Order: sequence, then C-alpha cells, then structure tokens
Amino acid sequence: MTYPHVQLLINNEWRPARGNASIPVHNPADGTVIGSVARATIADLDDALLATEKGFAVWRNTPAVERSKVMRAAAQLLRERADAIARLMTLEQGKPLAEAKAEIGMAADIIEWFADEGRRVYGRLVPPRAMNQQQMVLKEPVGPVAAFTPWNFPINQVVRKMSAALATGCSIIVKAAEETPASPAELVRVFVDAGLPAGVVGLVYGDPAEISNYLIPHPVIRKITFTGSTPVGKQLAALAGKHMKRATMELGGHAPVIIAADANIANAVKVIAGAKFRNAGQVCISPTRFLVEEAAREEFVAGFVAYTKSLKVGSGLDASSQMGPLANPRRLAAMQQITEDALARGATVATGGERIGSTGNFFAPTVILDAPLDSSVFNNEPFGPMAAVRTVKNIDEAIAEANRLPFGLSAYAFTSSIKTAHQLSAQMQTGMLWINQPAAPWAELPFGGVKDSGYGSEGGPEALEAYLVTKTVAMTSV
Ligand code: NAD
Repeated sequence: MTYPHVQLLINNEWRPARGNASIPVHNPADGTVIGSVARATIADLDDALLATEKGFAVWRNTPAVERSKVMRAAAQLLRERADAIARLMTLEQGKPLAEAKAEIGMAADIIEWFADEGRRVYGRLVPPRAMNQQQMVLKEPVGPVAAFTPWNFPINQVVRKMSAALATGCSIIVKAAEETPASPAELVRVFVDAGLPAGVVGLVYGDPAEISNYLIPHPVIRKITFTGSTPVGKQLAALAGKHMKRATMELGGHAPVIIAADANIANAVKVIAGAKFRNAGQVCISPTRFLVEEAAREEFVAGFVAYTKSLKVGSGLDASSQMGPLANPRRLAAMQQITEDALARGATVATGGERIGSTGNFFAPTVILDAPLDSSVFNNEPFGPMAAVRTVKNIDEAIAEANRLPFGLSAYAFTSSIKTAHQLSAQMQTGMLWINQPAAPWAELPFGGVKDSGYGSEGGPEALEAYLVTKTVAMTSV
C-alpha cells in the first residue's frame, strides 16, 4: 500500500474537502512529504453533522446484538489488514513496525471487548411504593459524539472512543490527527466495510481549533471526548461546559516511578526500561520521574543506563530498530530544551541528551541524573525518550514528590514489601498504579486520570457509562 491522499468520510462516502484543500503529511524518519490529508471546510463539517444526526437515528435503534456483530466483523477485518496498516502508521508516525502491529492487535482486542460489553448495558427495576406501579431506570446513548485524537497512537486513541460510542448506540465524528491521518482512516474503513450504516461514523481533518470550535457548541453534538495536552484539554472542557456537553478528557501525565530499596532491581530495570522507550516515550503514561531509594540507586542506574545505551535507534521500517524518530520536530526541540535546562541547573546526562544525525527527528534515548526539582524535566511532561532519576530518602518522600505535580495519570512502583504496596495504593494521587509490572491498559480496565490529567475513563464498564444517559420511567396502572 503506498501512502495515500487521505480523504474525509461523510455519510459513508470517502471524499475530498470542498475546494480540495489539503495538508501535507511528513515522514518523521526523513522529513519528506509522503502524502496529504483533506482539510475540511465548515461546509464539510455541516455535511458531517447532518450525516451523524441521521446515523444516530439508525444506530440507536439497532439492537445491541446487531451492533456487536458489526463491531466484531470490523475487528476481524482489522486483523486481516494489520500488516498493510502498520506500514502506513510507521511511515506517518515513526514507531517501529512491531509496535505499530502491536497497536493494531490491541485495537482489535479493544473493539471486541466493547462489542461484547455493549450487550451487557443494563438498566434496572426499582421496587415501587405501590403495587400498581413500576419504576424503571433506562440507559440510553447520549447522542452524537465529537472525538478529538492525537498523533502518538494514531489508531488506539481513536479506537477506544469509537468502540465505546458504537457499543452504546451513539454516532461519532472523529477528528483524528492531521500529522498521522492514514492509519486512523484505515481503522474507520474496516467499520464501513464491515457494514456500519451511513453516518454512524464520520472522519474529518483540518484546523483542529476551527473544528473543535465549530463542533463542540453545535446542538447536534451531545458529548465530546479529547485526548491530548492539558492546556488544550482545559480549553475544550471549558467550551463543553459553556454548552453543557458531556466530556471525557484524557490529558497529559508525568508518571512517577518509585523504586524501593527492597525491590527486585533486575525486574524493575527490565520492566521499566522497556516501557520508557516504547513509542520513543511519546506516551501519556510513559514513566518519566524516577524516584529511587538510596540503597537501590547504584544497581538500578547501572542497569537502566546500560539498557538505554544498548537501544538501536533507526527508521521504524528497519526491523532491527528498537526506537524510531520522534513524531514531529516540536518534540525534538522540546527534548533539546529540557536537556539544556537540566544541565544548566547542575544535572548530569548519563547517556543521550542529543539529536542523532541531521535528517529526521531522531533523539538519543536519554537518562538525566540528579536534576533539581525546579528543573523543567521534573515539572513538564517530557513526552519523549527521556528519563530523569533522583534519589529519595524513603517512601514517604517519594510519595510526596510523586503527588507534588498537578498531573495524576499513571504511576509505577517496584517493591517486595506488601506494606509499601499497600501504602502506595492508598496514598498515590493517580488514575492508574502499576506495581512490579509494566502498564497493562487492557480494554477491561478503567483508563484515565485525576487532577490535571483529566476526567472520565476510556476502559472498563466506566468507559461505556460515559456515553450513556439515564432515564427514569415510573408508571402507574389506573
Ligand atoms: P498540542 O497541545 O498542540 O496538541 C495536542 C493534540 O491536541 C494534537 O493532536 C492537536 O491536534 C490537538 N489540538 C490542539 N489544539 C486543538 C484544538 N483547539 N481543538 C482540538 N484539538 C486540538 O501539542 P502537540 O505538540 O501536538 O503535542 C505535545 C503535547 O501534547 C505533549 O507534550 C503531551 O503533553 C500532549 N499529548 C498528549 C497525548 C496523550 O496521549 N494524552 C497525546 C499527544 C500529545
């Protein structure tokens, strides 16, 4: 499959934007233009809104078991097309092919889980206060959804939103990332090819602010869902609030990693080093702030730095590459700025800290030691292949530092003490805590943050709840 000119999907028709405007798409491994994506106009958005309204009327009246069949068929098609779609994802996003394939496999799993869970959306009967009465609590789809997704997981950021919306009977307009448009378009295509009725899913690209400013206040849209940075999330949540729209916000994180002196250090290094550099660290739950008890420091840092140095960085299409380029030049600039700030404040760079070559957005996997707490790396989400390590006196200090930032998405800890594990689970201000293991964000587990990391969940039964409204019906026979 050669890289396409990615089109809009409106009313189950793939079409260019009116006036044929488009945006170029770059390969982050070499900076070349590989294709383009249609740039929707307001008139295109009006078409998409009309289609989603009609699609909702059809889909909400489709039995859950039938919806489930279409979703399962889509998952099957996605698995069949995984190799070709993975290549598109690597071309536009940069991640190694193996990671792109894993993302697609995970997406199919997510679709299947939601397809099944949608069949188990129950209301309830509430015992009445008189025997000629019945009291029912009904769960209904909230209505057409507008979803805004970023470029780091071009498919998985879309699939969680689409799957929950479709499983509950909502229609959805997705505005996926303009920098990585082809792979999400292929995700949407499997649903269309699996028989999703016209209008149930729409796909648009364009100017993100223009689209969100138009869709969020629009009366047809009843819910919004956004994954991206905290500043943008706050803007969109404010707009949603102004127009009384339900919202789910999956925003930035700055995940602490607590290494206790009693941890199995070999396990900690293996687990967390692998997790750190996945997707070149451009992951909202990426481990970033490493807080290591003194007695564990030497062994942990030695193992972690050795692993980091051993990573092979290169084009994601090269099967031997373990880490690809950063997805866009903004991240490269951010890595350089964060490193310079840390060095200026007295930190040391144990490995990395520099761009690799002058072509493409390659940055060396980086470990920064002993940056002070007021440095950029300990306050701003790096969103790149960078780990900052500090020593802590004890677990209390580690927890205080972990909770210091306004973020609270994911956290990691390594300990062999049940007492410490219990203390962490009680005191960490986080949406997800992984102890002695990597993050395992399976579809069946709630996925979401607290504090500035947002609200709402994109996994587990909670993810369906976010797309449902409750209706009380009480009736008396007279
Ligand atoms: P950004 O804040 O400009 O954009 C983040 C995402 O939001 C992008 O997908 C962008 O298209 C979208 N966006 C921006 N303005 C928008 C608007 N007004 N309406 C709708 N969508 C809008 O930053 P960026 O340079 O693309 O990414 C860098 C930062 O974003 C990272 O540091 C990280 O904090 C965050 N981010 C988080 C995730 C995540 O998984 N939570 C994913 C990607 C980026």
